[in-house]
Amino acid sequence: MEIIIGWLYPKLMSTYGDRGNVITIERRAQWRGYNVTVLPLDQNSTAEDIKSVDVIVGGGAQDRQQEIVMRDLQGAKADAMREKIENGTPGVFTCGSPQLLGHYYEPGLGQRIEGLGILDLVSIHPGENSKRCIGNLVIEVTASRLAQELEAMTGTKPYLVGFENHGGRTKLGKVEALGRVVYGLGNNGEDGTEGAFYQNAIATYSHGPLLPKNPFVADWLIQTALRLKYQQEIQLTSLDDTLAMQGRLAMFKRLKVSC
Ligand code: GLN
Repeated sequence: MEIIIGWLYPKLMSTYGDRGNVITIERRAQWRGYNVTVLPLDQNSTAEDIKSVDVIVGGGAQDRQQEIVMRDLQGAKADAMREKIENGTPGVFTCGSPQLLGHYYEPGLGQRIEGLGILDLVSIHPGENSKRCIGNLVIEVTASRLAQELEAMTGTKPYLVGFENHGGRTKLGKVEALGRVVYGLGNNGEDGTEGAFYQNAIATYSHGPLLPKNPFVADWLIQTALRLKYQQEIQLTSLDDTLAMQGRLAMFKRLKVSC
């Protein structure tokens, strides 16, 4: 079995180390014997390339790079992205990427950048002199289907640990939040929500990168991608995550959160 990872604009959207999410999916799938192809989705790609992928990874970016991406991700490519997400292709979208999947992003300086409008959310940077939201982030996943599926995989309530670094503040419309903030600021520092979950797209402000720190989310993405592609029940073999789990516990302890 093969899994194709579509990586959104690696050259423009890799400012915050989210490449670790690509590597985590790749390795965890390979360790179980699946073939993996990483396909960059960028200015040289076509809508057909976007349609061919099984899981999508989008990282964070600075405002200027986001603008370049949005100018490129239009027309048939935008339609292909919309179709993929609507049809349940799993994905993990971090920080600048969810801003682009929403209705719009208003940067601290300059013009509003129109988004794809796939996620019912808007993001506004309150201005160049306003404080960025930076620091460790812990959330409890509350998106009901995802929370249930993650709990079924791990046997425990799903808490995610990461690191946020954003100027934009996101307000959700009707889309479900990914989780509630346990430590940190999340979508806007006001309403206690973090990220969004739509179909099988996970949107979050959590860098870290997210997946090495929360490997069960990578497994959920792999399992969901393979089930959708091969239309059959997929049970992933378990891997030794002792070190990752120890890392999580150390962070929970340091931040004094009980999970
Ligand atoms: N440019 C966006 C912001 O500052 C996204 C930053 C990021 O991707 N980390 O809100």
